[in-house]
Amino acid sequence: MAAGRGILDDVTPYPSALQAILANAQPLPTERAPLELAIGRALATDAVSRVLLPAVDNSAMDGYAVRSEDLKNASESKPVTLKIVERITAGDSPQSTLNTGQVARIMTGGALPPSADAVVMQEDVEVQGSSAVFRESVDAGDYVRRAGEDIRPGDVAVRAGESLGASELALLASIGETHVSVHRRPRVAILATGDELAELGSHAPGKLVDSNSLALTLRLRELGCDVTALGVARDEPEAIRARFEAAAGADVIVSSAGVSVGEKDFVKPVLQALGAKTLIERVAIRPGKPLVFATRPGQLYFGLPGNPVSSRVTFEVFVRPAIRALMGLTEPIPTIPAVLKTDFKKLAELTFFTRVRLERDGARLLAVPMPKQGSNYLTSLVGSDGLAILPAGVAELAAGTPVEVMPL
Ligand code: AMP
Ligand code: MG
Repeated sequence: MAAGRGILDDVTPYPSALQAILANAQPLPTERAPLELAIGRALATDAVSRVLLPAVDNSAMDGYAVRSEDLKNASESKPVTLKIVERITAGDSPQSTLNTGQVARIMTGGALPPSADAVVMQEDVEVQGSSAVFRESVDAGDYVRRAGEDIRPGDVAVRAGESLGASELALLASIGETHVSVHRRPRVAILATGDELAELGSHAPGKLVDSNSLALTLRLRELGCDVTALGVARDEPEAIRARFEAAAGADVIVSSAGVSVGEKDFVKPVLQALGAKTLIERVAIRPGKPLVFATRPGQLYFGLPGNPVSSRVTFEVFVRPAIRALMGLTEPIPTIPAVLKTDFKKLAELTFFTRVRLERDGARLLAVPMPKQGSNYLTSLVGSDGLAILPAGVAELAAGTPVEVMPL
């Protein structure tokens, strides 16, 4: 009689699994992209400014550009009246240098005339015909935005590897860039496998809707991938093989189901027949223990478990970091520190990714495990804020134990 399978036979611990995956996920080639199409992607090289921002000294207020020296003795009892000689709005070039006794009307963003060194806001100035009356002194530099205060030639505006959000792209636009050099978007093919599955919208009675492909497609698009859905393959080696071959041009193939040890789990043998190198077959995590990671030259292959929760969780835990690495994104995904609200029992051998809701408790966040933790209950993901990472090596976690939560 064959010996029973131990819980950790052929099982890779979570940290080593992630490491092995990342070691095989090198940034994709770079391309020039217009700013609008670079959102969510990473620069291939640092973007260095060639300009000053602001370009010139300018006003931070609607008011009056003055020489602070002229208002040295201004007070409520001894107001100082100065002559308005010019009107400067944003975009104008000042025409005159202010002489002693002269001020310029100036709008926010207007360039300061050469000898002005401060701005007084209009609320503090009384206008009498073509003169302005001041009742307070000012310091040089008040309400002046100095040229180059924001960024100077040679400064790094955005670092290589940083995610380009709306703010980063706006900064790149303001320093005169129209295109950036970014890593190509990953091309990802998605496949569902299972005789029991029906494609979304096909209304096949008695069949289970392939919800995994929808969740995977949407998440991959959110991450900035070009996604091709290959539909549902029946549990037959030929059907699975044909779909994999159709995805030959993809950088990544993500399939769900058919990776455990059932009679109809053909994903692994098909991959092997195609010459892929299997690096991971099972990972010591819950949910999601059956998980295949294999590589072919220029292609990564993830065989996620079929249970909807396992597939969502293993996507976040393993596929997302790999996609980020392919995109050249180098910043780690931030986790949220919290403490367990209740005692929690787990298997010491496994790292648990436990669905939790977060509750505020004064300055700290409490992680409340969702009531149903079965890997088939999609309802346990709806309303959950993230996955509490409960490391291997411990079996019992007391209420109050600090945990890191991976936001969903
Ligand atoms: P398997 O890994 O093939 O044993 O599948 C595990 C469980 O996940 C089974 O109950 C399947 O019916 C379910 N399942 C597999 N693929 C999908 C899918 N694409 N969408 C929703 N549920 C699935
Ligand atoms: Mg199956």
